[in-house]
Amino acid sequence: MQNAIYWFRNDLRLADNPALTDACGQAERLALLVVVPDDERRSTRWGFERMGPHRRHFRDQALAGLARALAALDRELLVGAGDPVETVTRLARAIGATDVFCEAIAAPEELAQCAALRAAGLQVHERWQSSLLDPADLPFRVDQMPRVFTAFRQAVEGARTEPRPPAATPSRFPMPVEVAVEVAAPVSPARALASVASATMVLPDGASFPFTDPDFNGSEQVALAHLSRYFDSAAPRHYKQTRNALSGVNYSTKFSPWLAIGAVSPRTVYGSLQAHESRLGANDSTYWIGFELLWRDFFRFATLQHGARLFHASGLSRLPPPRHDTDAFRRWCAGATGHALVDAGMRELVTSGYLSNRLRQVVASYLIHELDCDWRAGAAWFESRLVDFDVYSNQGNWLYLAGRGADPRQGRRFNPDKQAATYDPDGTYRSLWGARHHHPASSRE
Ligand code: FAD
Repeated sequence: MQNAIYWFRNDLRLADNPALTDACGQAERLALLVVVPDDERRSTRWGFERMGPHRRHFRDQALAGLARALAALDRELLVGAGDPVETVTRLARAIGATDVFCEAIAAPEELAQCAALRAAGLQVHERWQSSLLDPADLPFRVDQMPRVFTAFRQAVEGARTEPRPPAATPSRFPMPVEVAVEVAAPVSPARALASVASATMVLPDGASFPFTDPDFNGSEQVALAHLSRYFDSAAPRHYKQTRNALSGVNYSTKFSPWLAIGAVSPRTVYGSLQAHESRLGANDSTYWIGFELLWRDFFRFATLQHGARLFHASGLSRLPPPRHDTDAFRRWCAGATGHALVDAGMRELVTSGYLSNRLRQVVASYLIHELDCDWRAGAAWFESRLVDFDVYSNQGNWLYLAGRGADPRQGRRFNPDKQAATYDPDGTYRSLWGARHHHPASSRE
């Protein structure tokens, strides 16, 4: 084929990106495109912007890294601002491309985008590549996956299903396509770098994922450096004992933000984990890192299995639609519920863009079970705020806590007082993120 487009989605990387490798192998000339949707700051039905400033900042860092990596190979990343379908279609027309390559994303909006591209006459080559295990290698058909995580994990472990080795970085990039920017507008080559260069963001002291620090920047290069640093340190030896901590840089792996935007692939992470184990030996903690990556896969496969049902109010359950209390929801978002641990967590989330797994569970359970609010509102707030927002993990975890997911148990209710006594016995976390100590993140763009 002659001219084609590679459309980067949540795979902002060059290494282990089989969809990109396919495109490089098949196209004579290739336009490398990413689209920044113009509606990302538009208000959701719950009354706040869909993508908050922290997430945008981290994503822009990843884009800048990708643009730099491509520039080093003498290739240019085109950045489109607008509706993804329109932008891809317009660029395809401008350069006479009939083929679009991209990673497959199983969530309803992203599926609709590919359907719309096909309806516009384009040949779309989607490739599933965001899970650790390949769906084709599972010991069951993905549409017959066990509904409960433990049964899924035992089946996979029993069959010794292994991830495929990471794909090589493309050794050769096709020639770029001559793009008449006026024709393809609003696609422009330089925007990503320019917007990141001019953005300043200050995170509060004590942020557990300090992405304004160069060691936590969103780019692929930094993701890979973080992987090496993490597995060269003693942290993985104790992961199982520390993973429930509430605050700090090292208590958990912090891979999630890079995994979410695809700056690193789960197979690359797994390769580093295995290398660590062969150097220093496997233990309970290193096993547990792989175990958590299986949770990530479980929610991905559940989305392949159940599709749009996971996005309905009742999820997979027959429960009536949830109730909602707009005022209580607003107080929860603002960290003003009156429960000190919940409020501290909500302040950390809003000001830093990250929250520990333990506190995600506590605050989500509080919203659903104590404030009697709609889990979808909470999931939307997390989507807006988390730098590691991932549609599968977010939806899956919220549904699970709401008792509307794949797990048959009636929801997970966490007693917030007990959680505070167990995980923050001396109140250190509550005073770190308490109202008096709160330094709001400021952003100038
Ligand atoms: P680690 O503890 O170091 O775990 C290693 C990796 O395993 C993580 O990077 C992640 O990829 C995976 N993982 C760990 N726990 C889970 C889990 N419960 N579900 C799925 N994968 C997991 N994670 C996201 O990546 N994006 C989200 O939008 C998201 N939303 C969540 C919403 C709720 C209500 C809850 C309870 C959890 C959510 N999680 C989400 C899962 C989990 O909290 C984060 O993945 C984790 O805290 C990220 O930090 P880490 O990389 O240091 O994790």
